[in-house]
Amino acid sequence: MSTRNQDRTTTIMKLRLLFHEYYSNNPKSIDIPEKIHAREFAFQTWEHNWHCIERRSKDESGTEIRTGCGKSGKSFQPVKICPNCGSSEVRTTSWNRHIGYQSSDDLLKGLAASAPHSVYHSAAFYQVPIANYMHEKEWQGAELVFDIDADHLDLPCTNDHDAWRCDNKTCHYTGTGNPPEACPNCGQTSFSTRKWICEKCLTSARKYTEKLYDDFLLGDFGFDPDKIQLNYSGNRGYHVRVRDPQIYTLDSNARVEIVHYIMGLGFRSDKAIVTERGSTWMPTREFPGWAGKVADAMVEFIRNIDSYSGNEKWVGTLTDLKSEALEGLLRPRPVLSRKVKGVGVKTWQEIAEKAVESYGGEIDRPVTHDIHRVIRLIGSLNGKTGFEVSLLNREQLDLFSPFEDATVFKDGTLKVLFHKGPATPSFKIGGELYGPYSDESVELPMDAAVFVLAKGVASIE
Ligand SMILES: [Zn+2]
Ligand SMILES: [Zn+2]
Ligand SMILES: [Zn+2]
Repeated sequence: MSTRNQDRTTTIMKLRLLFHEYYSNNPKSIDIPEKIHAREFAFQTWEHNWHCIERRSKDESGTEIRTGCGKSGKSFQPVKICPNCGSSEVRTTSWNRHIGYQSSDDLLKGLAASAPHSVYHSAAFYQVPIANYMHEKEWQGAELVFDIDADHLDLPCTNDHDAWRCDNKTCHYTGTGNPPEACPNCGQTSFSTRKWICEKCLTSARKYTEKLYDDFLLGDFGFDPDKIQLNYSGNRGYHVRVRDPQIYTLDSNARVEIVHYIMGLGFRSDKAIVTERGSTWMPTREFPGWAGKVADAMVEFIRNIDSYSGNEKWVGTLTDLKSEALEGLLRPRPVLSRKVKGVGVKTWQEIAEKAVESYGGEIDRPVTHDIHRVIRLIGSLNGKTGFEVSLLNREQLDLFSPFEDATVFKDGTLKVLFHKGPATPSFKIGGELYGPYSDESVELPMDAAVFVLAKGVASIE
């Protein structure tokens, strides 16, 4: 084992101990899901369980070829080649699923005992939640869940703070943003990535969550706010759970329809924007459904026209006449300004369509439609940051700042060693600015130390 591996093991032991203390001392922070006995729980473990796949075959001359050794084991490092025989056909998992608890006491004991990297439970209720196969679990309904993750919002700050490194040991080429398809230096296609978070991406995710909650779930669907739970995910986003028995039995198709509606699919701009008696009309904000949102969607779209990637002819016009277009759309009775020369009804319709698409378009579809999905337990800790999966009400959401409000380790300091390679971007915790750091040893307050250890950019010295 190299020193770096040993450091990682020590680091994980420390994080796990801190998580253990958190779960032992803060049982009240855990939000016990309704009908706990009917939920499947899932843990992500700190260690990776690996299994080397053994294969035997014969070559043309009939000689037996063997690849893989069939061994299994645990490792704190991600395993990409078999530590025993070097084969690259290794299956790894850090998931432990199909766990069940009869009571909140049971769950709290389980959390303190295993202090896992991450804790999830099913949005669904089952007759037999611990059965190993979905068809044996006997599904009885599920909450409607939405996962809003900065990862899916395609934000420019990714290029500033995410980084990758080629896995090829003789190469280790690095870059920023998302990894390329193949390493530009050696051509290999396997990379280690560092996903960071900043106030910009978290604010975008928060704003989108507010929109989903206010405009769609309360506004259009009319759900009771008391039956909607909001939480910060502990890393890059927010979750929304609708806990209204009326929707529990919606099947996957019905859930997809809800998502499609929110995404604005099927919106008919030719019905919304029309020419009548020589003038072009659009719906006022009082109209129910999407019609009433068009003006706001267009305002948002035109305000951000600089970051729109399309190259339609109207992009230049809207960029030049942005304030004229916005002035009309922002009126109490929105109008499509005649001052935006060269943009006729057809073009306004096209713009409206793009605007609707980007206004509603950032929902994580697979999460909502998957009726067997697991979602993070509120009050648990996210092993990617050490932050709390924080329960929020609608008012708290407006003011919520993860870097201040989701940290739980307030006592003491810890000396950590930042790794070599791309510098760790600067970050703010509890109002204090840290970094950037590279290849140096620093004594940090506990919450900042836990964050960089969990992010995997530093180790305990
Ligand atoms: Zn092997
Ligand atoms: Zn490379
Ligand atoms: Zn960011």
